[in-house]
Amino acid sequence: MKVFKFGGASIKNPEAFQNLAAIVQEHGGTSRLLIVVSAMGKTTDALEQVYKQAFQGEDYQQALQQIWLHHQQVLAALFPDAASPAHERLEQLYTSLQQALQAVSPSVSYDQQYDQVVSYGELFASVLLHCYLQQQSLQNTWIDSRRYIMTDNSWREAKVDWARTERLIKRNLPPILAQQLVVAPGFLGGTGKGLTTTLGRDGSDFSAAIFAYGLEAAGVWIWKDVEGLLNADPKYFPDTVCYPEISYQETVEMAYYGASVIHPKTIKPLANKLIPLYVKSFLNPAGKGTKIFDCRFGKIAPAYIIKENQCLVSFSVKDFTFISEKNLGTIFHALSELRMKINLMQNSAISFSICSDFHQERLHRLIEMLHDQFVIHYNTNLHLYTIKNYTPESLQLIVNDRKILMEQRTRTTLQFVCQ
Ligand code: ASP
Ligand code: MG
Repeated sequence: MKVFKFGGASIKNPEAFQNLAAIVQEHGGTSRLLIVVSAMGKTTDALEQVYKQAFQGEDYQQALQQIWLHHQQVLAALFPDAASPAHERLEQLYTSLQQALQAVSPSVSYDQQYDQVVSYGELFASVLLHCYLQQQSLQNTWIDSRRYIMTDNSWREAKVDWARTERLIKRNLPPILAQQLVVAPGFLGGTGKGLTTTLGRDGSDFSAAIFAYGLEAAGVWIWKDVEGLLNADPKYFPDTVCYPEISYQETVEMAYYGASVIHPKTIKPLANKLIPLYVKSFLNPAGKGTKIFDCRFGKIAPAYIIKENQCLVSFSVKDFTFISEKNLGTIFHALSELRMKINLMQNSAISFSICSDFHQERLHRLIEMLHDQFVIHYNTNLHLYTIKNYTPESLQLIVNDRKILMEQRTRTTLQFVCQ
C-alpha cells in the first residue's frame, strides 16, 4: 500500500493535472495506491478572503466568481464535453459552497464557520481529480475524508481521534484499495456530527500521513515543485542543498521551526510506524528526491528557516515586582485559550516576551484578557529566522546588518526575531 500526496501547485492548471496522471501511471506501480490532494493553486488563500468578507457582511461575489472561474477553466479544458459528470458534480459543489456562504453568521464562531467554507477548495480539487483519472482509465473511488479522519472541534487545527480514525480506515479502505485507486481530499476532517474540520494550513501532508498510519502503508510520497527536502526556501536563498536522506527527527525540528516543506504534524504518525516519507519533484519525477526515515547522520548542512508575519509581544508587570511563575501561568493560560503558539520566548526581571504568528483577532483578545495585569507592548510585521546546525559562516550570511529584536542560541540552533 502506498500513499501519494499532491499539493496545490501540482494541480494548478490543466497541464498539471495531465502531469499528475502520468506520475500516477508511471510511479503508482501496480500496488494499491491512495492519493491525497489539496486545493488547486492558491484556492485556499482565495477562499479565506471570500469567507472573511462574508463574515464581515461585505460583498464577496466578485472574489467568489474569480475562484469559480478558475475552476471552470480547468474543468472545461479537462472535460471538453459539457455532458461529462464532472461538470455536474462541480456545479453541485459550487451551489453548496454558495449556500454555506449565505449561512455565514457573525454570531457563530469565526473559526467554526471558516472550516465549513474553506474546505471547499479540497472538495473541488479531489472531485476534479477523481473524474479526470477516471477519464484517463485510471479507475478510482473518491472518498470523503471527513468520514475517515475523525477529529474534535478545535476548528482550523482539529485534533485527530486516532483510535477511531485508524479503525475506520483499517476496516473500510483495504477492500476498496484492493480493487482500485482511492482519491481523497486532504486538509479535512469531520466531527462525526456533520461538521467539517480542517487540520491547519498546509494540512494535506498530515492527511496523507494519517491515511498511511491507518493503512500501515509502505511509504508516503509527497510530490512537490522542488527537488526534495531543501535546506532553505529557494525563494529567499539562491544556493540551496537538497538532503538525499534525513532523519525523522531533523525533519520534525525543521518543520517545527517553520520550514514550509512539510506540515509539522506529518512526521509523528509515520515515525510511530516506521513508514518512510519520500519528497519528490512532480516536475522531475525521475529525480532522486529525499528519503526521510529512521536513520542517524553526523553533521548535515545548516538549514535556514524563515517564519514571516510574526509578532513580538512583551508583558511587563505593573508594580515593579518581578515576573513570577504565577504571572507566567496567567500568560500561558491566555495564550493556550486563544491557541496562540509560542515560536520563541524570553524573560527578564520585569518582562516576558513571546514571538508568535500574527493573528490580529487573537492578539486583540489577548490584550483584552491581560491588560489589567500587565503593560503590553507589541510589534508586528516581523520575521523569525532559525538556523539549524549553524556554523560561523551560516551565521554571517544571515545576520548581516539586520535589526535584531530578540535572539536565542543553543548548541545546534540559532534563532532571532527581526524586522
Ligand atoms: N489547501 C490547504 C492550504 O492551502 C491545505 C494544503 O495545502 O495542504 O492550506
Ligand atoms: Mg494548499
